[in-house]
Amino acid sequence: MMIASKKISVMWFKKDLRLYDNEALSSAAANGFTVGLFSLDNLRWNTPDLSTRHKVLLLKGLYELAKRLTSYRVPVYLARGNFIETITGLKREFKEFTLYSHQETGNFSSYLLDKKVRKWCKSNHILWEEKRQNNVIRGLKQRDVWSRKWKEFMGKECLEIPVFQYNVCNPQIKNNQFLSPEVHDFEWDGLLKFCGVDHLALDSASKSLPDNLNETMQRLLTSFFQERSLNYRTEMSSPLKAEYSCSRLSPFLTSGMLSIRALYKELLSASEELKSKEFNATKFSSLRSFEKRLHWRCHFIQKLEFEPQLEFRCMHVNYEHVRNQNKLNAQEEEFLNLWKEGKTGFPLIDACMNYLKTTGWINFRMRAMLVSFASNNLWLHWTHSGEHLARLFLDYEPGIHWPQMQMQSGTTGINTIRIYNPEKQFVDQDPDQSFTKKWNPNGWPYSEFDKIVDLKKSSQGAREKLWAMRKNKKFVDLAKKVYLDHGSRKRKNFKQNSQLVPNSQLELLDKQ
Ligand SMILES: Cc1cc2nc3c(=O)[nH]c(=O)nc-3n(C[C@H](O)[C@H](O)[C@H](O)COP(=O)(O)OP(=O)(O)OC[C@H]3O[C@@H](n4cnc5c(N)ncnc54)[C@H](O)[C@@H]3O)c2cc1C
Repeated sequence: MMIASKKISVMWFKKDLRLYDNEALSSAAANGFTVGLFSLDNLRWNTPDLSTRHKVLLLKGLYELAKRLTSYRVPVYLARGNFIETITGLKREFKEFTLYSHQETGNFSSYLLDKKVRKWCKSNHILWEEKRQNNVIRGLKQRDVWSRKWKEFMGKECLEIPVFQYNVCNPQIKNNQFLSPEVHDFEWDGLLKFCGVDHLALDSASKSLPDNLNETMQRLLTSFFQERSLNYRTEMSSPLKAEYSCSRLSPFLTSGMLSIRALYKELLSASEELKSKEFNATKFSSLRSFEKRLHWRCHFIQKLEFEPQLEFRCMHVNYEHVRNQNKLNAQEEEFLNLWKEGKTGFPLIDACMNYLKTTGWINFRMRAMLVSFASNNLWLHWTHSGEHLARLFLDYEPGIHWPQMQMQSGTTGINTIRIYNPEKQFVDQDPDQSFTKKWNPNGWPYSEFDKIVDLKKSSQGAREKLWAMRKNKKFVDLAKKVYLDHGSRKRKNFKQNSQLVPNSQLELLDKQ
């Protein structure tokens, strides 16, 4: 069957797997007959930071979306292999189309694919419309205007589910050998197989993903704003309590099943509701903390958007060769493996690693502690530990992950150097040891001899090496540039701050 409409919209679903408040999809629908594509190009689908749990999450989200789109007669296909060959085939078939997608700040290889697609579109006279879905601004020249833009973006109404008026029939695309059958026609196991995921060898985090993700997301949203957020501010740091008190919405934000603007509106109505009831100061301060974190989400992603090299290059160049980024020596290799396997001999570190491996999630403070231990006590380069954590975090979002890896490793030059003490955290965050006992399959109790490093000496050594880099004459000038490019403007401006800083040492110019 020929496609009836003259205008064709090819909607490239990247990580924006939703109908509601999806500007790219709404624009595609308003333009013409809409066809959905999900790319399995190696540059997106077979990268070292993407693990089975991410693939299962994305495919579940896509499967649900494709099924919903059948009722609007919108076909969705998987584009296997080289994406440029797929769109070349579509050009041959349709002659003309407009490509739609959201504006993505992905990992470096997705950035490379985007560059190829941009070049192809230019030479083939195909318009590629990329729409923003958060307050990450491409080509931002002036970091000072960022907060104003946040208000503008979040202040707009959410977009309703599009009408798809041009999708009057559901034709099969005939001549593109790189496309799969329509996604909704697959059996679930068949879909996994087609995408190179062995359904018999799923890890525990993939297996525990629920069948109906959209329903789960709605339940989490409701329970968070109605009940769970009450003690969010005070309980978010404890690995025991955070599981309940944090929103647990990050995988839905990352996969784009949930729009940040829609979440922000939910937050506003929860705040309004609070005002209309008897005032609850605890809940009020929890909701404010949550709001800050939604800002941070975009603030962090903006850093990678501005400088995609932050995935492998230190934010402050002085730290570039402080740790070994190249092939690991035998000692480093051993340390990295013991850390990955949860066999460091530090009970809370090992428990957190095992918990994360099993569930795909852990709270902020424990993430920071895991990184601090690998970077400072084991003196491993953050790229090595970061790749492992990226594969474990179900919510892996390159724009948050890599700047956070750097921040917790002391390489930004604009944040204070913070070295977590895992023994103190153990006492503070797990006072009855129940979390640590539960998540240590290597036995209990630990003995002093199990520890793979001397905590005090290694922390001291790291502190000295990191601070030594700040004594260099050029440090402050370079840090100023980092601040202008990436720093939060919420605190006092840089000029004021730098006057307060003694001995050319910069302190906490960015948040957290
Ligand atoms: C080394 C390291 C790596 C991290 N990597 C990721 C990652 O890949 N993806 C990710 O979503 N978060 C990451 N975080 C931030 C944070 O730990 C998670 O966002 C949070 O734990 C997710 O759980 P939640 O949805 O219940 O969060 P909540 O506490 O309920 O927060 C709601 C949302 O706010 C955002 N948010 C919360 N904290 C932060 C923060 N510190 N910085 C930026 N945004 C934040 C997230 O989108 C989160 O989903 C990382 C933190 C560290 C220290």
